[in-house]
Amino acid sequence: MSGESAVLISDITKRYTMPTPVWERVTKRSESGRSLAALDGIDLDVRRGETLALVGESGSGKSTLAKILVGSVAPSSGELRYDGEPMPVPRGKDLTRRIQMVFQDPYSSLNPRISVRSLLSELLLLHRIVPRRQVRTECVRLLNLVGLDDDALDAYPSQFSGGQRQRIAIARALAVRPDVLIADEPVSALDVSVQATILDLFTSLQEELGLTILFIAHNLAVVQHLSQRVAVMYLGRIVEVADTDEIFANPQHPYTQSLIASIPRMSGDSANEAAMLEGEPPSPIDIPSGCRFHPRCPVAVDACRSTDPELRAVSIGGAGEVHESACILADALPSAGTRIAVQHKEEQ
Ligand code: ADP
Ligand code: MG
Repeated sequence: MSGESAVLISDITKRYTMPTPVWERVTKRSESGRSLAALDGIDLDVRRGETLALVGESGSGKSTLAKILVGSVAPSSGELRYDGEPMPVPRGKDLTRRIQMVFQDPYSSLNPRISVRSLLSELLLLHRIVPRRQVRTECVRLLNLVGLDDDALDAYPSQFSGGQRQRIAIARALAVRPDVLIADEPVSALDVSVQATILDLFTSLQEELGLTILFIAHNLAVVQHLSQRVAVMYLGRIVEVADTDEIFANPQHPYTQSLIASIPRMSGDSANEAAMLEGEPPSPIDIPSGCRFHPRCPVAVDACRSTDPELRAVSIGGAGEVHESACILADALPSAGTRIAVQHKEEQ
């Protein structure tokens, strides 16, 4: 099954030049700033009507990619297409409207001094979504769509809980009737008890509105029941892409296997410590040679120190999807992840 492309991301890179530390300038050890590769050749197809999860540890480049997609950060190189057409720079009002973002922290993303009514009405009028006389009705419709009552209209963000604020942030993104919603870790800042209700809201919005959603998370468990496909990121690269069920049942990158192993199981057992990831990811200023995951990889062989593996098709998953992995050992990996995923399913 390969759906129609909504956003096609081709070989996108993003480099930042870090200022030279003062002591290096004084001692003339370094003349120019050091370069940091936040994104290093990203290829990804976000298909119309799907929820695609983008998962990886903190610092892997997820937010940088999100900002590039909404046009708030310019890529260093590469190409973006929307509906098959190159995205113009600057983006233009219509394309800006079509791709909206929901941020991680609803406490900092909403201005506490602007009422919900003003927040939504301004956008509705700016983008001429409805005539002025219908603005109030449309604001109420939006609030109801995200599970809030009519009386939220005249309240201020500070009067709401974190989960309710995130609903307002989602209503703000939906006000301009976007086609694509990019949600950057939208439940990470919320209490565990409300996370599931916000995840359910994303599921129902996708179904009701036919939205295309790129859902970013650092935890694979969050996206298991929400997304149709998963792309796993590590240090500025996509290292595995597959249908969600397939990635849980048959992970083909040791990094994905470790992420799955670190999910606490339903029985309340602790995660599988043997397969858990150790340490922090390396800095993108100093990317390891060969496979960038090799220093933390439990199954690395000599070739992994010198060969930088490309993302390649390794198998066809259950849903007829091509399963891609950037591991030279894919197809021949120890099946630790498989075993864990199967247990995980049986316990549900
Ligand atoms: P994630 O969202 O996956 O945690 P980010 O996209 O925020 O990752 O960051 C990826 C890498 O790029 C990190 O090492 C981060 O420090 C770096 N980075 C992000 N934005 C900037 C910036 N404006 N200037 C310099 N480095 C940045
Ligand atoms: Mg981030």
